[in-house]
Amino acid sequence: MNKENFEVFGGLVERANRILVISHIRPDGDAVGSLIGLGLILEDLGKEVNLVLEDGVPKVFHHITGQDKVFKEAAGVYDLVIVVDCSDIDRIGSVLDEYGEPDVNIDHHPTNTQFASLNIVRDDAVATAELIYDLAQALSYPLNKSIAEALLTGLLTDSLGFRTSNSTPRTLRIAAELQELGADLQTLYRKAMLEKSYEAIRYWGKGLGRIQREGRLAWTSLSLEDRQEVKYPGRDDADLVNVLTRIRDVDISVVFVEQKNGTVKVSWRSRSGFDVSLIAIQFGGGGHKPAAGADIKGSLDQIQADVLEITRQALTPSE
Ligand code: 5GP
Ligand code: MN
Repeated sequence: MNKENFEVFGGLVERANRILVISHIRPDGDAVGSLIGLGLILEDLGKEVNLVLEDGVPKVFHHITGQDKVFKEAAGVYDLVIVVDCSDIDRIGSVLDEYGEPDVNIDHHPTNTQFASLNIVRDDAVATAELIYDLAQALSYPLNKSIAEALLTGLLTDSLGFRTSNSTPRTLRIAAELQELGADLQTLYRKAMLEKSYEAIRYWGKGLGRIQREGRLAWTSLSLEDRQEVKYPGRDDADLVNVLTRIRDVDISVVFVEQKNGTVKVSWRSRSGFDVSLIAIQFGGGGHKPAAGADIKGSLDQIQADVLEITRQALTPSE
């Protein structure tokens, strides 16, 4: 199925001159890496490529070659519009408001809604970057060091440094190929996964200070006030949820981040096979079995109460 899709994709690219590639709001390493990786591949094919992220490239990814090619808005007319790493149309934000349905959707989320004309979706891929690598191989698109850096960033971040259960020998082989193309695994790992700003660590401190636990469930929240006090510039959780997952004997971790627009960003992480994407979907979000999120309208206290109630039920289904 994918081989056919890859060929259709190849045809679309061949016929296009001006191509727009976009990814989701609050972009993560796979969004940025897939976007830049594919963008550089298409540029090397002689295409005029516009790369757009509504929220721009987060600072932690500013070391990636090609990040300066990413803009916040689309402009003009495109022959081809490609969306990467987006499970549904809402995740795109407003970039496509004046452009209608995208042509191509390249993604690995099991909750993908197949929203484009051509949907290249494979949920066994550890990252969308892996799919882009496969696409490039299938169509004999050449890769180089910069493309390898971008794609390896996607692989590394979505697999949490090859720690997730969907990281396979194949994932590692692809990573090795990307290393051989010149991508510096250790530096990319450090920059994208380990290094945090002083402000981010203090922001963690706010959340860790009020962490709560009930058996196999742990959670905390980050308010707008916290963000302001420590001068954290982002609107995400600075990856705090992945710190919570380190608590022994906890199966589900949840972080609530208050947003300026009257919504709360909720992030779930799970172990032991609990499917948190099913909970996220109930709140209009999505994601994967072990990692899911949703943007929910309401106050921090109310959303926290509602989400914890449903999450507790998922942990104790028969009681
Ligand atoms: P995170 O908690 O790190 O923001 O996201 C975890 C996973 O859930 C990612 O795979 C991400 O794509 C997905 N996700 C996060 N927020 C949303 C959302 O608002 N809607 C949907 N559909 N997926 C989300
Ligand atoms: Mn991804």
